[in-house]
Amino acid sequence: MSNKPTILQTDLRFNGTLTPLQRNRITKLVQHHMASQTWDINQVHAFHRDSNRWAGIGYNWWIAFDGTIYQGRGWHVGAHVSGFNSTTLGIGYQGDFTKQAMTEAQVEAGAALNAWLMSECPNVRSVADIIGHRDLAPTICPGPNFRMDDLKNAVNQPNVQNPVVTPTPPKTGGTQVVTTPTIRRGSNGAAVGRMQNRLMTHGYSLPRFGADNDFGAETENAVRAFQRDKGLTVDGIVGPKTWAELNKAPSNQPKYSRLLRIASPMMRGEDVRAVQRKVGVNADGIYGPQTERAVRSYQATHNLAVDGMVGPQTWVHMFR
Ligand SMILES: [Zn+2]
Repeated sequence: MSNKPTILQTDLRFNGTLTPLQRNRITKLVQHHMASQTWDINQVHAFHRDSNRWAGIGYNWWIAFDGTIYQGRGWHVGAHVSGFNSTTLGIGYQGDFTKQAMTEAQVEAGAALNAWLMSECPNVRSVADIIGHRDLAPTICPGPNFRMDDLKNAVNQPNVQNPVVTPTPPKTGGTQVVTTPTIRRGSNGAAVGRMQNRLMTHGYSLPRFGADNDFGAETENAVRAFQRDKGLTVDGIVGPKTWAELNKAPSNQPKYSRLLRIASPMMRGEDVRAVQRKVGVNADGIYGPQTERAVRSYQATHNLAVDGMVGPQTWVHMFR
């Protein structure tokens, strides 16, 4: 038997009534990543409820970059893999693992959660029943960077430890940060991870390392971009003023005003910059070949028409 890991209860509001699951019907534990590099559980919930018109977040549980496990639908029928929702449980992981790394904290938390679910569900018999969404449907989910082998190995350890997490309430207004020490290149630890998550919430992607609690070059570049955009001193150091901006709710999403594409001369502007942040390329505000390639890859990943241009459909997918 595995101990129940710490699971943060959420106050997500669902439309309608959820249907309880029968644990003995569960045969597989299905792992998912997000179609977003930055969304937190509230944003995933809002998207599933308001855009997909589901009752709310489709996953049964959800694991943030920092290893916090949130309850999504819990022991109710999910909406995460068509045709299998009554016989599987869905676990979502923050991040886009076609572009980002899965964090160590996510592997540990995922192992603790899957181990506990195995002990709760008599017909989930071995780690072979821990699968990815792609094993049941034509999708890339949970992405090539999902650490499936590491996860299964960790589940097989004799004593999967309850991951050490300090549960923080879901950030609804984006203002609940516990400590805000001055941090800079070379800093590490939970405060760095919190800061990285805030950066991503504001739309500054960390495509290679995500929120890894390590303040490296990628993070410093994102901090500098954030500071420049907010009119702060651009020093790459997160002190009181930068923290204060980071802790504000993200400003309104940019508005669609024109078709973005390769053109001569090349298109420039804040809208280009916003797209670049979303697709994880250098946000220089110029729509060049690198941006076009990244847009194509974004479109392919999200089942959009792949034309390398940002028209209304791609825009809405990126920013709503
Ligand atoms: Zn999935």
